[in-house]
Amino acid sequence: ALTAGIVGLPNVGKSTLFNAITQAGAESANYPFCTIDPNVGIVDVPDERLQKLTELVNPKKTVPTHFEFTDIAGIVKGASKGEGLGNKFLSHIRQVDAICHVVRCFADDNITHVAGGVDPIADIETINLELILADLESVDKRLERVGKLAKQKDKEAVYEHEVLVKVKEALENELPARTVEVTDEQVKYLKGMHLLTSKPVLYVANVGEEDVADTSDNEFVKQVREFAEKDNAEVITVCAKIESEIVELDADEKAMFLEELGIQESGLDQLIRAAYNLLGLATYFTAGVQEVRAWTFRTGMKAPQCAGVIHTDFERGFIRAETVSYEDLLAAGTMTAAKEAGKVRLEGKEYLVKDGDVIHFRFNV
Ligand code: GDP
Repeated sequence: ALTAGIVGLPNVGKSTLFNAITQAGAESANYPFCTIDPNVGIVDVPDERLQKLTELVNPKKTVPTHFEFTDIAGIVKGASKGEGLGNKFLSHIRQVDAICHVVRCFADDNITHVAGGVDPIADIETINLELILADLESVDKRLERVGKLAKQKDKEAVYEHEVLVKVKEALENELPARTVEVTDEQVKYLKGMHLLTSKPVLYVANVGEEDVADTSDNEFVKQVREFAEKDNAEVITVCAKIESEIVELDADEKAMFLEELGIQESGLDQLIRAAYNLLGLATYFTAGVQEVRAWTFRTGMKAPQCAGVIHTDFERGFIRAETVSYEDLLAAGTMTAAKEAGKVRLEGKEYLVKDGDVIHFRFNV
């Protein structure tokens, strides 16, 4: 499964947030095969469409899809030189598919900040620099090898060399590899380098309780947003402390509490959905009287592969996918009405599944 790693300097609220994640934890009964790793938090992906489909179909049970966060142990300066937890930290980052970088944007005199004062940009740069230096080392090694081949006029090597030089230049300017613009042909070389700074990043600005409803006055958040734009990254705001309180509540209490705070959706729910999208994940649904269920697929997956998410037999024996979009189904009111309105399509092997598709797979066993 794809996973998003949570990183951040000490005392930024990382553990508070990760605890909220594990406590919010997905109904484990639905995932009997998931290993219990204390560094992994599995959460349900909040999706109001699932609720609407449940009302429409009235099934025996409803099962949301889930998503994994991985807590990455603390970083210290000098990680790229193998100090302290350094190398371990980098190898953990290598294993995740996206990075949620928590930065402290709350002022609290009682909580010491490692570098003296609250300075989110300096915090971001501390971690980013370690990643950039590690990548620079990988790129230099690769350049040496590829450079020799390129001199011998090896075509592939010449192409890769070009990309490597571009990436090196960016890294030397302290810019992550994800900011490097490459052509469609060059993408494969960049991907093949498996660089840490190629991974998609989400900055999670951890704000104080006073800013939770409206972060527009928070100067730190403003700085993070400006930085993220140059860094080709996204930003979301949460208040980790409040999130850790919200997870203790049941659904009704949660709704009331959010209303009191003046927010629509909890920061944690926003974080889950943002990380999900960041990884290029999307959701399709199955909707039968037994079960209405959300399933995760990667954007760009075709119908048989999506069927394989449910069971490998479904992929092997795939015949076709009876498909209706969530919007069309909702507008029609029932599956029968959607069929009568001609909204249910019979899609074949080449069909690219879309987010929100409601699918019934036909297959041979
Ligand atoms: P970590 O070292 O990054 O894992 O940080 P912790 O989660 O342990 O948080 C460090 C301290 O900051 C703890 O005392 C938390 O209670 C506090 N803290 C975390 N998030 C918030 C927040 O949103 N607001 C305030 N005021 N304090 C917070």
